[in-house]
Amino acid sequence: MKNREFTPETEHTYDRSSVARWLVSHALRYPLYVVIGILFRGGVVVAAVQVPKLMGSAFDTVAGASAEVRVLLGFALAILGISLLRGVLQLLANYTAEIVALRIERDVRDELYVNLLGKSQTFHGQQRVGDIMARATNDVRQLNVMVNPGLLLLSEWLVNMVVPIIAIGLLSTTLLPIPVLFLILFLVALRGYLRRLTPVAGAMRAQFGKLNANLTEAISGIEVVKSNAQEEQEHVRFRAEAQSYRDLFVKQGKIQALYLPLLMFSFTLALGLAHALFLYSNDSLSIGDVIYFMGLLAMLRFPTFVSIFAFSLVKLGTAGSERILAILNAETEIDENRAGIERRIEGEVEFDNVSFAYQGANALQGISFRAKPGETIAIVGQTGSGKSTLTRLINRIYEVAAGRVLIDGVDVRVWSMESLRSQIATIDQDVFLFSRTLAENIAFGVRRPVSRAEIEAVAKQAQAHDFIMGFKDGYDTIVGERGVTLSGGQRQRIAIARAFLADPRILVLDDSTSAIDSATEDQIQRALRNILHGRTTFLITHRLSQIRWADRILVLRGGKLEDQGTHEELMTRSPAYRNIFAHRDERYAAVLPATVVGE
Ligand code: ADP
Ligand code: MG
Repeated sequence: MKNREFTPETEHTYDRSSVARWLVSHALRYPLYVVIGILFRGGVVVAAVQVPKLMGSAFDTVAGASAEVRVLLGFALAILGISLLRGVLQLLANYTAEIVALRIERDVRDELYVNLLGKSQTFHGQQRVGDIMARATNDVRQLNVMVNPGLLLLSEWLVNMVVPIIAIGLLSTTLLPIPVLFLILFLVALRGYLRRLTPVAGAMRAQFGKLNANLTEAISGIEVVKSNAQEEQEHVRFRAEAQSYRDLFVKQGKIQALYLPLLMFSFTLALGLAHALFLYSNDSLSIGDVIYFMGLLAMLRFPTFVSIFAFSLVKLGTAGSERILAILNAETEIDENRAGIERRIEGEVEFDNVSFAYQGANALQGISFRAKPGETIAIVGQTGSGKSTLTRLINRIYEVAAGRVLIDGVDVRVWSMESLRSQIATIDQDVFLFSRTLAENIAFGVRRPVSRAEIEAVAKQAQAHDFIMGFKDGYDTIVGERGVTLSGGQRQRIAIARAFLADPRILVLDDSTSAIDSATEDQIQRALRNILHGRTTFLITHRLSQIRWADRILVLRGGKLEDQGTHEELMTRSPAYRNIFAHRDERYAAVLPATVVGE
């Protein structure tokens, strides 16, 4: 079993060893539909073959001069009846195929989403969101089209190709050479066609992903684009990407235009007629046989024509499926350890000689410290010194490269991830809010149903109630897109309310008030004081007012723990620590000595 960070309650497993096996394992979830669909389709062709046969017999009857109107009417009615039957079977066959295609599409979406949720932060950090979105939407859609009408047309192609040729063989083996020769040349031409199409199909899917990724980046980075007046450059880039996508379409069109089998079919028809008439003149065939034979031969037009679309759709679908499978099969390094320890965290956190690197670049080296339950630990250091990285090792967003992170004396890798993460909350620099109501955003981290009264209570504790009530829809106000936008300080307080509700044992506050104006600062300070009470807290901040709350301060420098101690200790012995405050604005410089004395 592969590593993963999330397993849903119910899950179906598929064979992901190859695209074909994967698709079959998806289709086989609905064996009844598949079997019934094949039967219907077989019925359609068998019925179709009867039409030229009846026509041939009708001609023989006429030629035999014993033609009674009643008999001929019988033929006509039989042809009508068979055509009707064929129509009904066709409808049912298409219907079952569409059901299977839609279910596979749904299942693949589900499989992919679950899989993405279970992938590590490292994996997601290396992906372009737009490309993932293209795979999750467009490539999955392509997969549906591959099943219906793609595979349907392919099966149609197969039976419609084979059944008439068998029927010709049954009529007279002397008629076989020309259709069989056609079949062989067809297959040779098809192979060449697919060989030319395969790279183009793959490139098309990849280019679409790239196009989408660039678009996503330009839109989510729209503020940067605008403030740097880069609209024109972005447009040029987009046009270039769109152009290459278009070029691939043209290339595909050219390959399709050079599809030889259609031409070969016309020759076959002419040669077949000459051959049959020759046999007729030899008295080896009746005129009815000639009609029947030509009817069967004409039936090959449909599969020949349909094969272009069938194989193109299947090719594009396979190219898309390969992209989906590549994600599904991508290894992820962190495992949720479902069988791991599940219990209430007391809150002791220990780093034991911990090192960590992002893709080779060292971020933390030989970090050791210990936080007792309920302590507040401030982490300071220049930008890029590894403060955020350190906190991400606690809830296993990333895994240590060497050393151990222990919680209550137990390695975080031994804890069940679910238990671990549900008891550790992080309030980040940028608080991400979903496009849902404020109430839903506050209740985000909790699994049990939460009453409105509870939400209001935590919002009050987080000093968020008043501004929330200031919105027309109050707690039902929708955030983002169709709703309101919140300021940095408001977002912080929503995140704090969320944390109150989740009631974590360990709390990480990452630069949590840096974005806040002084008008709301007091409120935030009060909210933060409330929340860190009774929990082990890691506080990444340079605000003296907050550093004062800390029992201990860790000073990071270039990924190493330079020193640790109380504010007073560090002020006297750590130049690096003093340095952090030396360059800060006057407000802090002025506050500094007073604070030290005052506390
Ligand atoms: P801080 O929070 O102290 O500003 P970080 O922990 O964010 O520092 O970063 C520490 C180092 O790791 C920096 O050199 C940074 O460039 C690097 N880093 C941070 N995040 C990533 C990431 N996702 N991938 C690669 N390198 C990263
Ligand atoms: Mg940081």
